[in-house]
Amino acid sequence: MRKSRKKPERILLLIFTDCFSATYASARNKFVDAAQAAGATLSQYIHPSAVGKIGEALTIDVAHLGNRSADRQLLVISGTHGQEGYAGSAAQVGWLLSSPDKPVLGDVGVLLVHGLNPYGFSHGSRTNENNVDLNRNFVDHTQPYPENPGCDKLHQALTPLVWNRESFDSVSRAEADFLAEEGADALFSALVAGQYNHPDGLMYGGNGREWSNLTLERILCEHIGHASKVAFIEWHTGIGEYGKPFFLSFNELHSDERRQAENWWGEGVSDARPHGMERPTYSGLVFYGVQAFLSKARVAGAVIEFGTRGPEAGAVAMRQDRWLRFHGEAVNAEMQTLMRADLRDSLNPASYLWRHAVLDHAVALTDSAVCGLARW
Ligand SMILES: [Zn+2]
Repeated sequence: MRKSRKKPERILLLIFTDCFSATYASARNKFVDAAQAAGATLSQYIHPSAVGKIGEALTIDVAHLGNRSADRQLLVISGTHGQEGYAGSAAQVGWLLSSPDKPVLGDVGVLLVHGLNPYGFSHGSRTNENNVDLNRNFVDHTQPYPENPGCDKLHQALTPLVWNRESFDSVSRAEADFLAEEGADALFSALVAGQYNHPDGLMYGGNGREWSNLTLERILCEHIGHASKVAFIEWHTGIGEYGKPFFLSFNELHSDERRQAENWWGEGVSDARPHGMERPTYSGLVFYGVQAFLSKARVAGAVIEFGTRGPEAGAVAMRQDRWLRFHGEAVNAEMQTLMRADLRDSLNPASYLWRHAVLDHAVALTDSAVCGLARW
């Protein structure tokens, strides 16, 4: 029988407005305030050239707390995909506000990396200042890039010049043709595995290491380069049931690292089929970068998603995000506002129901990782 993860035991006294923010700048403030109150040491990594939506500085903020020199360190990353940073930030802030005095922190350190993609966070986009999907950027750029012929085939339909019902229909037709020829798993893989041929396309992995990629290496080396066991959480949204966690572990099946993550979070860690599909071979994940940067450490953990609208609407939101970046100036301000509100709601639902569910789960999952790591 499948063992499912226990429900969060603790009732949080926090409400969503304590932890969620309405802007990137406010999310930074909440994170810094909560980290200071928890006694963390704080560092800032300021983007050398890009600026935020209202001209603000773009920064990756890092908080380190607990036993910072311990052999065991938990790494928690938010905002790899910009718009998903709101939930990831709230997850970090919620944990800081509710759990910092846990006695187990005598044995482990916790490194919170806030806003890995600050440009996307501030501008409300999945991708960064170069339209790069950071979660496809951690490949070896000295080697030939992974090919994605399915994506090459669909690229034109996925990147319409005009945003209207006709362009919706032409994407649906192209996807239906592809589906009939190659099947649902191949279609899903073509759409999300990542691609390196179309800088103006979806899931573009870049043609070199992005600033956030280089900076993450620096952050990890400076703070947890000494660790031998690292637990990993990277908060995302968009896959899974509404408000519920969904795990994507990239540790080898049957490895000790995978078993550790199952011990912390339940066997659901290993039976994940994103949107019911066979899991694609994603290229260039942040997790692979973390493994490479911490080559002396064993790294166990997962990307943890919180479900929002489901796959169809999620795919539309991604195309809409990309369309607004390249063609948004062509439409009037009202249409932009309407589209941006829809886009934001697709990955950061406004309802307190969703936000409280995210907070409760996120705090419990982080606590489980801390306690599990102490015993690993
Ligand atoms: Zn994501």
